[in-house]
Amino acid sequence: MINLRPYQDGAIENLKQAIAGGHQKVLLQAATGAGKTIIACEMIRRATAKQKRVLFIAHRKEIINQTSDKLELFNIEHGVIMANHSRVNNHAVQVASIQTLTRRDKPQADLLIIDETHLACSTSFLKILEHYADATVIGLTATPIRLDGRGLGKIYGDIVQVVPMAQLISEGHLVKPRVFAPFKPDMKGVRKNKGDYDATETAKLMDTKEITADIVKHWQKSNMLDFEKLEKVENLRKPEIHRKTIVFASSVQHSKNLVAEFQHAGISAKHLDANTPATERDATLQAWRDNEFTVLSNCGLFIEGLDVPDASCCILARPTKSLTIYLQAVGRVMRPAENKTDCIILDCAGLTYEHGFVDDHREWTLNGRIKRPKDDAPAVHICEECFAAYSKAEHPNECPECGFETPTERRETKHADVDMIELTPAIVAQMRAKRIRQIEMGKCKTLDDFIELGRLRGYKAGWAYIKWNERKAWLKSNGYDVPVEPTE
Ligand SMILES: [Zn+2]
Repeated sequence: MINLRPYQDGAIENLKQAIAGGHQKVLLQAATGAGKTIIACEMIRRATAKQKRVLFIAHRKEIINQTSDKLELFNIEHGVIMANHSRVNNHAVQVASIQTLTRRDKPQADLLIIDETHLACSTSFLKILEHYADATVIGLTATPIRLDGRGLGKIYGDIVQVVPMAQLISEGHLVKPRVFAPFKPDMKGVRKNKGDYDATETAKLMDTKEITADIVKHWQKSNMLDFEKLEKVENLRKPEIHRKTIVFASSVQHSKNLVAEFQHAGISAKHLDANTPATERDATLQAWRDNEFTVLSNCGLFIEGLDVPDASCCILARPTKSLTIYLQAVGRVMRPAENKTDCIILDCAGLTYEHGFVDDHREWTLNGRIKRPKDDAPAVHICEECFAAYSKAEHPNECPECGFETPTERRETKHADVDMIELTPAIVAQMRAKRIRQIEMGKCKTLDDFIELGRLRGYKAGWAYIKWNERKAWLKSNGYDVPVEPTE
């Protein structure tokens, strides 16, 4: 028996209500880490208990195998409809590859569950939906926006959001991203193509010697901020000195050039793209999983589905108008793993400016837009010292990474021409000290903790109250519960 997390139970209830309210096709938005396969399996379990037949449809082999494995955990007998698969039977539950299903006889089904439904808009998919005109349809996705920016309102009648990403982070189902945005490419004048920046023009803009060198330097610097933490981790294996990193490049050549630059700096790196032969791709991926090299760079390959939880750094080097691509890309490094407390997003593509912070609250709609007005989202502030991107509302006084003062007046955001800081031992020591101070602050959970920390640091008594009020204001503005203080 698998116990569902409370929000997972709640999501199934909300789905039931949406269906009871007359919607035959409902979209379930579940962020990476929300456990959408578990939710799906529980829905399947409940449906089969009522003698219903269920068809689960996915695009990729990995998802089909994962779902089949999870169904085993739930003790749900099922068949698999996929090329070269032997699990052919007549069970009430069938897990099918969309490609194979279009070619074979379709099993009966009262409930259809479509995984990664933001990808499912093809004519063959619509034909499958027509075939099951009477079935209840539940679409699963982390990002209910098609890659061309359109919504899914033509298929689905209602949308249920499972859980905000910020809650997944606070409950430990995802790790907190630390964002650095050392530069923002100037996309003005770049042509648009099918709702996104033109690929050729984007690659031309991004694939320069200067930017490539800067990306590697900034990656080294962001890893540097971790040193004092890593020194505490026992049994350090060599590749773990650096964060296992995935790069999203603007073109195949850009990806290869980035790999060359990493290698030039003495960091092991490899490249993959859609044309890499399957055996080589699998071998490279396995080597990366096994910590045989540090940086895996790709172009257009791993937006979805790559599940390597101990990867903890993502380099965004491909500017995109697509919120889906942005969120799916960073989702690759947010899964929790042993000894992993956070992840780094090195945003060299202006995506934090374009789309907001990864963990911003987003009210998804069926028309491909976010309900919340743009100017309501926290403004992105870049630390002048270490290029950390953070919300001033969350950290009004100092940078959460290095402790550098947050300026009160509005300043223009700096562009690619900012000078790199040279990392002298003195600066590194200063950065470490500030980072340690910040970690100490992060550990304070109550007013008393702040008072104790202030006392240890020899601060005036008022400091703890100021910090505590800032913390509460932040918790409140981000939708968390504000701790109730004991009344005296
Ligand atoms: Zn900073």
